[in-house]
Amino acid sequence: MKYEAVIGLEIHCELKTKTKIFCGCATGFGAEQNTHVCPVCLGLPGVLPTINRRVVEFGIKAGLATNCTINKYSKFDRKNYYYPDLPKNWQTSQYDLPIAEHGWVDIDVEGEKKRIRLTRIHMEEDAGKLVHSGNTIKDSASSNVDYNRTGVPLLEIVSEPDLRSAEEARAYMEKIKAIMEYIDVSNCRMEEGNLRADINVSLRPVGTTELGTRTEMKNINSFKSLVEAIEYEIERQTEVLEDGGHIIQETRTFDPARGITLSMRSKENAHDYRYMPEPDLPPIVTTEEEIEKFRSELPELPDARRARLEKEYGLSDYDAGILTGSRAMAEYFDAVIATGADAKLAANWIMGDLSKNLNAESITIEKSPVEAKRLGEMILLIMKNTISGKIAKKVFQEMWTSKDAPAKIVEDKGLVQITDTAAIEGIVDEVIAKNEKAVADYKGGNKKAIGALVGQVMKGSKGKANPQMVNELLAKKLQ
Ligand code: ADP
Ligand code: ZN
Ligand code: MG
Repeated sequence: MKYEAVIGLEIHCELKTKTKIFCGCATGFGAEQNTHVCPVCLGLPGVLPTINRRVVEFGIKAGLATNCTINKYSKFDRKNYYYPDLPKNWQTSQYDLPIAEHGWVDIDVEGEKKRIRLTRIHMEEDAGKLVHSGNTIKDSASSNVDYNRTGVPLLEIVSEPDLRSAEEARAYMEKIKAIMEYIDVSNCRMEEGNLRADINVSLRPVGTTELGTRTEMKNINSFKSLVEAIEYEIERQTEVLEDGGHIIQETRTFDPARGITLSMRSKENAHDYRYMPEPDLPPIVTTEEEIEKFRSELPELPDARRARLEKEYGLSDYDAGILTGSRAMAEYFDAVIATGADAKLAANWIMGDLSKNLNAESITIEKSPVEAKRLGEMILLIMKNTISGKIAKKVFQEMWTSKDAPAKIVEDKGLVQITDTAAIEGIVDEVIAKNEKAVADYKGGNKKAIGALVGQVMKGSKGKANPQMVNELLAKKLQ
């Protein structure tokens, strides 16, 4: 039997508020353990939470940016469970009346657009962090609890089970990341745990519509792990089903070192959490005017920006998609063309040499050794015919390592393009004299023979002759 994968993601997105969701403690990452704590986030008896208004604003903006309906009457609930990283023994979250529901985002996979529905977006507090003395809890003599993260605001963004492959899941998560970055509600640094996904995966026979039994992999914090965990799980479940077995509904962990998922515990159901309304917080009531105000504050979103780049600069849909696929990429592109550089050249250089170098050294574009301004300056040199596209590749590599301005590199290395007719003519005459066969071939009707001659002239000029002029001069002389 052939199976189809069914995947739904619950994405946790840490919000970039200055203070925590229910107290005034700072949210910053990387502080000394247990320095961002107070009686409220430590859950000491007799204290009361107060909602951070920014969190509600960010929740509504996230909902609007993903085409959700905003619930004008929304409330918090307690999700009860016991674990050392949760000092109150409940997580203040939202249950039946989340801030936003019924949204969608569009993704592209292999040139096809697909709409992925969002079930809901709710606000909640993060838990603390266990810091083990060893690598894992199992090989640790002791573990500390760091409560700095306790009470950091999160949005949980839940998708419908509309995803059908690891690639679709990746595209979806990239889209959510881009939107949250654009609307500026989260830093979305996956390596710092700002963005983490719980992945739900099941299989069903192709052609059927009923959902199969799912497994859940929690806290996936990189795109690589997301893809590997899903692919591994699809393969594992396929084998189980093909052997006549049944999938057990369970929570599994993904081990990035081995690229496999391992059974952790049987999955809890909602009733296990004994959800109850949070009595210490009033419901959140939002007016139409407030919602419209937040809507008016939203920036241009990735899809709109993509469409604009296509229209304004004649970029292809694919190129525009890549150039708007993350906020950092979009801002880099904007900064390059702000120098006056041609948009298509900018697109080609960013997606070509720059991306190649960044990938090879695993650097993100924010940390690119070649700043956007520098790349723009270099493109201007190409546009002014100071250097050829070919020489520019050399200049680019030089900028990558030396961080010098392109004009200085061109000057220091004597890379200025030769556009002096007399100088090029001299080399052309020499090449014609030395290559009788190619000249005869060309005159005999083989027009392609000119290619070899152009190559010789370029070589003779150390790549610096203006290629267009070389072509023209050769053609003229061989007439
Ligand atoms: P929880 O995991 O907290 O119990 P839900 O039951 O609402 O919450 O489901 C969470 C996620 O699992 C959603 O993204 C949903 O689309 C996805 N999901 C639910 N059932 C399945 C299934 N059978 N196969 C794959 N994904 C599923
Ligand atoms: Zn606090
Ligand atoms: Mg879940």
